[in-house]
Amino acid sequence: MMASSDRQAWVLASHNQVKIKELREILLSRDINLKSAAELDLAEPEETESTFEGNAALKAEAACRATGLVCVADDSGLSVDALNGDPGIYSARWAGPEKDFAAAMARVNDALGDKPRTARFVCVIAVARPGAEVQTYRGEVVGEISWPPRGDAGFGYDPVFQPEGETRTFAQMNSEEKRTMSHRARALAKMIAAEFDA
Ligand code: IMP
Repeated sequence: MMASSDRQAWVLASHNQVKIKELREILLSRDINLKSAAELDLAEPEETESTFEGNAALKAEAACRATGLVCVADDSGLSVDALNGDPGIYSARWAGPEKDFAAAMARVNDALGDKPRTARFVCVIAVARPGAEVQTYRGEVVGEISWPPRGDAGFGYDPVFQPEGETRTFAQMNSEEKRTMSHRARALAKMIAAEFDA
């Protein structure tokens, strides 16, 4: 068996333990030794861009400059059609410093009123390699905003997001079910196909 030092090192530019565990499991079979931003003491840059692609690229490139290693970052959020894509890249910020997602979901529902309720979760994964142009991969899942919130699983806006063709919200599904259709899973699959299987 190869020692971890023999494997190519990649960095996930995130402090989110769930994302780190998920990507580490996927990259294990690819002989990649995944390090986290926390392990390398990497600062989290401010998300100053106006698109998911821009923010994901900004985070991956900052980590790549700091480490000289291949760096992966993501940016995700809920984009509601009738709200011109809001909360979008501001999805976490709509919940405020207290991360009050009950309030953020109510804000989305109030803003929608009688308007059409179609929405999508978006995830963009960026891969930055030293000396190469950053690559981005987008995954989306389409659905609608349902009210009142239903379910206790998941996080963020899951209790009000009902994927197309389903009768349950993401928060009423277990993590395996959600993973079969989620925006993150779709972006990851595109990234793996392009970076490893092309
Ligand atoms: P970030 O990409 O880690 O900055 O997270 C963006 C925000 O989008 C999260 O805080 C959630 O509010 C929201 N979000 C992204 N993906 C999901 C999801 O799968 N379910 C619920 N909310 C999500």
